[in-house]
Amino acid sequence: MSDLTALSVVELQQALSAGETTSVEVTRAHLDRIAAEDGALGAYLHVEGEAALRRAGEIDAAGTAGTGLAGMPVALKDVFVTEGVPTTSGSRILEGWRPPYDATVARKLKDAGTVLLGKTNMDEFAMGSSTENSAYRPTRNPWDHDRIPGGSSGGSSTAVAGRLAPVALGTDTGGSIRQPAALTGLVGHKPTYGSVSRYGLIAFSSSLDQAGPMARTVLDAALVHEAIGGHDPRDSTSIDAPVPTVVEAARRGAGGDLAGLRVGVVRELGGDGAREGYDAGVLERVAEAVALLEGAGAEVREVSCPSFGLALPAYYLIAPSEASSNLARFEGMRFGIRVGDDGSRDIDEVMALTREQGFGPEVKRRIILGTYALSAGYYDAYYGQAQKVRTLITRDFHAAFDDVDVLVSPTSPTVAWPIGARVDDPLAMYAADLCTLPASLAGVPAISVPCGLSEGLPVGLQVMAPALSDDRCYRVAAAVEAALGAPLTDRLAERAA
Ligand code: GLN
Repeated sequence: MSDLTALSVVELQQALSAGETTSVEVTRAHLDRIAAEDGALGAYLHVEGEAALRRAGEIDAAGTAGTGLAGMPVALKDVFVTEGVPTTSGSRILEGWRPPYDATVARKLKDAGTVLLGKTNMDEFAMGSSTENSAYRPTRNPWDHDRIPGGSSGGSSTAVAGRLAPVALGTDTGGSIRQPAALTGLVGHKPTYGSVSRYGLIAFSSSLDQAGPMARTVLDAALVHEAIGGHDPRDSTSIDAPVPTVVEAARRGAGGDLAGLRVGVVRELGGDGAREGYDAGVLERVAEAVALLEGAGAEVREVSCPSFGLALPAYYLIAPSEASSNLARFEGMRFGIRVGDDGSRDIDEVMALTREQGFGPEVKRRIILGTYALSAGYYDAYYGQAQKVRTLITRDFHAAFDDVDVLVSPTSPTVAWPIGARVDDPLAMYAADLCTLPASLAGVPAISVPCGLSEGLPVGLQVMAPALSDDRCYRVAAAVEAALGAPLTDRLAERAA
């Protein structure tokens, strides 16, 4: 067969079930491409290699390849714990750790017969928007190697956009699936909070973290979403509700008929009067995508969500507060590295030395910020206040969804920026999350779908829906994708050819 790495998940399923290829061939094609390209791209922190080929051989021997996701190679962000497979969360403090169990989503993908290609690079503990905070190396954007691939799931976005994996999982706390998807021309979905298990996902901010798919097409993302979603008794915040029918919604949306669907354009996210900080090219592509929705029969109106402008400060209090507590478990006693344990120091000194050497600057910044925000005397002024803002944002969503079925905005205010441009300016880095944070704080689902290029770089449209209505995100995204004709990443392949 021709280049197997160029095929979508759906096309690979068809080729596998028709016996035109094997899981071993598909896996080998991706491993070969990783060997050739990943030295430059830096998408992976660990590659399974022989283990992946062995696993693929087992699936082929069982004769199930092509049934559902069986035989499909996948990549996992290194934030998911994987039994016996190195897991670092992008941090030195977990270097060398091989977890004794699988995250529920990793287990579900394994049970579905997928083949793990490897673990993808990420900002340390998922803190960042560019993957430059990885303790190991930066990841480069396949559209322009001098630019960032977004973050924190930038290893996953580069792996899929660069055809080093057909599909990958990321996690999204404040935008880390959607923003890297937008910046590399992928589809990335953050499911409704609680609808995909967090068990075995190394916690950053527990009230915000969600796992989700990153793929080259809407249908590919939906197929993986259905494989990982659903109730998990091991996650106390897991919702006991059926997985929304996202595959059906993706197929329906591809028909291009949105008659009767009410779409709200969020005024505060790049709409009238809130355009500062947004690239003109991003706003143009998004406006064109909104026109496409109208052309497909949707009723479009502008909607105001006045509290969305407060999402950034609220998020950057809540997320570091939860992180400061979650990251207390990394003290060199139970997993990862231990520093200074030479018999001359007491346990507190060893813990302090381990954390000093094991954590990078952004992680330390957030632990300090979060500890301060939670300290007695400041709790009401910072953390308590941020939680109140969170409630206001949730109310804005409720009010908006009384009038419209979905809300849309740019996913990222800008296209991918040059490597290094924001590393010394945390606030500029945080501003990348302007559009993605409201849905995170309210726990509602949101997807990013490619809507064209600006300055030769991908732009994403964000579609947000009410909790547990993830299917609406997929339906609208599929309509945009169908109107544009072909996956945006096809243009990257053409450019390389
Ligand atoms: N960029 C945001 C942050 O640094 C979001 C990260 C994420 O979603 N994991 O916190």
